[in-house]
Amino acid sequence: MFKKILIANRGEIALRIQRACREMGIKSVVVYSEADREAKYVKLADEAVCIGPPPSAQSYLNMPAIIATAEVTDAEAIHPGYGFLSENADFAERVEKSGFTFIGPTPESIRIMGDKVAAKQAMIRSGVPCVPGSEGALTDEPKAIIQAARTIGYPVIIKAAGGGGGRGMRVVHTEAALLHAVQTTRSEAGAAFGNPAVYMEKFLENPRHVEIQIMADQHKNAVWLGERDCSMQRRHQKIIEEAPAPGIARRVIEKIGDRCAAACKKIGYRGAGTFEFLYERGEFFFIEMNTRVQVEHPVTEMVTGIDIVQMQIRVAAGEKLPFTQRSIQLRGHAIECRINAEDAYKFTPSPGRIAMWHMPGGPGVRVDSHAYTNYMVPPNYDSMIGKIIVHGDTREQALARMRTALSETVVEGIQTNIPLHRELMADAKFVEGGTSIHYLEGWLSRRNR
Ligand code: ADP
Repeated sequence: MFKKILIANRGEIALRIQRACREMGIKSVVVYSEADREAKYVKLADEAVCIGPPPSAQSYLNMPAIIATAEVTDAEAIHPGYGFLSENADFAERVEKSGFTFIGPTPESIRIMGDKVAAKQAMIRSGVPCVPGSEGALTDEPKAIIQAARTIGYPVIIKAAGGGGGRGMRVVHTEAALLHAVQTTRSEAGAAFGNPAVYMEKFLENPRHVEIQIMADQHKNAVWLGERDCSMQRRHQKIIEEAPAPGIARRVIEKIGDRCAAACKKIGYRGAGTFEFLYERGEFFFIEMNTRVQVEHPVTEMVTGIDIVQMQIRVAAGEKLPFTQRSIQLRGHAIECRINAEDAYKFTPSPGRIAMWHMPGGPGVRVDSHAYTNYMVPPNYDSMIGKIIVHGDTREQALARMRTALSETVVEGIQTNIPLHRELMADAKFVEGGTSIHYLEGWLSRRNR
């Protein structure tokens, strides 16, 4: 096992990784920007090194500074967390070339999954069902583009092969709008992602977002750890996640989970990963794979009892998975609410000093956050400042626990989306379960009218 790991991230996930290391008796080094000097995990760190000014490009995305820090602190491995450099194949490659272990998949796996056209082709070959669409990237040939859309059937969605974070997509409802949409998406994709390739898919009108967590070792073993329903989204950003997905038959989930695990074995995947699907009328359609730990991993940890971050570290060190598919049992129901420093209904960011931070507790309640009373939320990064996760024997009990937890939570000095979560936990449709990816935006527009 590693003696020392460098954590190349910030915020709650840096603290999460630090906790995993500490439990395993591994020393950890945190890197931080000048804006994060006051963060909890920096104060708690075995070693902490400032790597640059607040802008991410000069700190958390600064590969030479991060690798140099690993060198001077004698770290053996680098955990990239999520976001920042976590899905950057060049970074993974540089880490390994510099003699460190990258806690994640191989650079080749990251590269394939980072190109959505290549990822989809790999999935089709591995027997994972995909959204019907163009075979590979679209050519410049107008006739072929029109023909592809006719074959798929309107509405279609034009997506950038290199896209991410919900950007680089355009829905097309009529043939008249098609060629212009392809052209615009192509030039935007070239400018934003450095890759003008675009492809076409059937636009699913009312799907749910259901994803499968997988874990694979370097000895050809791969398992899936259940699913998560992340349909409660605004602008493609998830705000509430739960496991299991309400109302979907276990045999349907098991079939897709087994396909994902088989695909991992086929492509030689290692580490944690997530297969994201759109789910509509009983069918799963692959949209993309994330080759890293996800924000919402705790709901899976709560229902499986498996520590995903520790497993990432173990398989990166070459250990075999300590469980088989049959030994993985899902127990009860878990829900996560992401706490963002923003206006609950207008979504304007609300950085600043937290005057009062009081988090909930009690049976089945978990809080993952680096914040505390008097902590200054910097304006430079993502607005998420923590997550409240609850577990119950049933979904009803989990909902009741989340309501109780949210009623105990006090954050003063900045605005948060806690009032939004309180309302949603009492919303009849959400409580019923199985809302689509458009539900939250519809709910918000009705509420704000
Ligand atoms: P990104 O990497 O930018 O997150 P995804 O491919 O995961 O891109 O898609 C993001 C979101 O866009 C999905 O969660 C879904 O809401 C919507 N979306 C993507 N593809 C489709 C599709 N074929 N039909 C309907 N919605 C889609």
